[in-house]
Amino acid sequence: MRLVLLGAPGAGKGTQAEPMSRELGAVHISSGDLFREAVRQGTELGRQVKSYIDRGALVPDEITVRMVMERISAPDASKGFILDGFPRTLEQARALDAALAQHGISLDGVVYINVSPEELQRRLGGRWICRRCQAVYHEVYSPPKISGRCDRCGGELYQREDDKAQTVKKRIDVYSRETAPLIAYYREADKLIEIDGEQDIDRVRRDITAALKNCKRT
Ligand SMILES: [Zn+2]
Repeated sequence: MRLVLLGAPGAGKGTQAEPMSRELGAVHISSGDLFREAVRQGTELGRQVKSYIDRGALVPDEITVRMVMERISAPDASKGFILDGFPRTLEQARALDAALAQHGISLDGVVYINVSPEELQRRLGGRWICRRCQAVYHEVYSPPKISGRCDRCGGELYQREDDKAQTVKKRIDVYSRETAPLIAYYREADKLIEIDGEQDIDRVRRDITAALKNCKRT
């Protein structure tokens, strides 16, 4: 199967990608890994990617699409692939569809793990770390016995900049703004498989498996 996996940071995409890949025999292609690997191997595309990253610029869609197409043409992707982290915008989704069409193929489905902004905020915004022993706590899911103190060593708990409520809110807002048109696009194309991501991990996995079975039959 040829799939895209969509979900906000904190939606559990990373947790679901590996079991999905095993179950389907499809290769998991994360765009971040793809960039790192190309840079490491020093391929022609890798050198171009590096020049953008070094300048702190975004890698142009055209280059990313070429890298993705190269990767999915590799023998290990013949049984299918799960794209993760790409496409992220409507423009990228259109460019990907066009490139796939040139190869006479198309996406079978887009799995969207849907989690409300409020729940994302709870999951991502509640992390506290011990200054002394680095133990990790969560306000809701694994709170310390005494607020602000580490259970293990009594050290002071603090929040990293990335875990602070305002930073988290900004990240979620940016993601929603970018992906809303993408979700509408795939829904319109009848490719969107929406999964309730607020259930426990196993339940989410079972729902994905069930949805993909139905998707295969059509
Ligand atoms: Zn501690």
